[in-house]
Amino acid sequence: MAGKAHVTLERDNCISCGNCWSTCPDFFEESPEDGRSQVAMKHRSGEGLSEGDAPEDQDECVRSAAEGCPAEVIHIG
Ligand code: SF4
Repeated sequence: MAGKAHVTLERDNCISCGNCWSTCPDFFEESPEDGRSQVAMKHRSGEGLSEGDAPEDQDECVRSAAEGCPAEVIHIG
């Protein structure tokens, strides 16, 4: 599917399981501040840590990460 997937993380409810940054390490990373997931700097949109746009080559892994998140806090729209 073409186009960029817009990703939103509900960081407050992240349980720091590590699944997303294992599945999709270019896009998600562990925050050194609080141990929760954050969008890697190069993919962020806006000012915050919790929103970003996944380029086409990251689309599949971002969607897998969302499906595999046990807390269901990764939203793609
Ligand atoms: S998979 Fe979900 S709960 Fe686990 S670290 Fe990533 S955002 Fe947090």
